[in-house]
Amino acid sequence: AAKGAGRDTVALFSDELRAAARRRLRVTTELREAIAAGQLVVHYQPLLHLRTRTVTGVEALVRWQHPERGLLPPSEFVPVAEASGLVDELTRWVLATVARDAAAWDDMGLPLTAAVNISATHMGSGTLVSDVSAALASSGLRPERLVLELTETSVAEDPERAAEQFAELRVSGIEVSIDDFGSGFSCLGQIVSMPAGILKIDKSLVQGIAGSGHKQASQSAAAVETVVSLAKACGMRSVAEGVETPEQLAVVAALGCTYAQGFVIAKPMPAEELPRWMGARSRRRAALAG
Ligand code: C2E
Ligand code: MG
Ligand code: MG
Ligand code: MG
Repeated sequence: AAKGAGRDTVALFSDELRAAARRRLRVTTELREAIAAGQLVVHYQPLLHLRTRTVTGVEALVRWQHPERGLLPPSEFVPVAEASGLVDELTRWVLATVARDAAAWDDMGLPLTAAVNISATHMGSGTLVSDVSAALASSGLRPERLVLELTETSVAEDPERAAEQFAELRVSGIEVSIDDFGSGFSCLGQIVSMPAGILKIDKSLVQGIAGSGHKQASQSAAAVETVVSLAKACGMRSVAEGVETPEQLAVVAALGCTYAQGFVIAKPMPAEELPRWMGARSRRRAALAG
């Protein structure tokens, strides 16, 4: 009986593996067609400079306008793209789109920095620097307007290689940012010695600040404060991500964070909505000041 059960378990396991592999293959095929068919879209989330209370940049976040399944978040397809080797192609499309949008905003008198999320696999493939240059060349966007975000965990996968490419990018004027800082267990010394200019504090730390119990709130605030001073000591700017309440916004501002990003400021929005949102925001602020 034991033998039989073992066989059943193995059969069940391999059925599940086969089903998962089929699903991945289907999504990969669909995604390849989706890029070609123009089904991917980029939404932009504003970044607030806390000292001046001005919006100085945006983060680009990819979505898939799926014909049957609706608007899909990156968690539904970016991991598949990474596993199947399709992510470089996806990122080249995102880079080209973002550079074009940011150049258009520039022409409208809205000089914003635009941050693009980069996968660890892309850093490993050796085409990152040339892919970024190609997007800048075809759009005419100045390199100073572009920021590349790499997560703490992907930097930790190959720190030497990350450091090399970060240095190369920064020489050409492109800024590099370490994303989701404080969400992994990477070597602190390694992360802070990276040639990156921005440290993005993970939303799990930011969201612990307020709305939770008093003890956890003060511990999270202490953690955020520590990261902010760490960033300062390393000559880096800091971003609090996932700021959802006015209370969290007040705390991260008081702790000296350089920027804040989150639903309390704005949710990610389509490119065409951004100039309108910026206009409405500055009218609101003018009315308050007047
Ligand atoms: P991320 O780079 O850390 O992006 C921030 C995520 O937090 C976004 O989720 C954003 O919509 C969400 N967010 C922003 N403000 C708040 C808030 O106040 N509360 C909460 N709960 N969430 C907030 P999204 O768009 O689902 O993206 C998830 C992740 O997917 C990103 O995390 C990034 O790692 C990845 N990603 C997004 N676009 C791309 C891309 O073009 N290429 C690659 N390789 N990865 C991408
Ligand atoms: Mg990011
Ligand atoms: Mg993040
Ligand atoms: Mg994240």
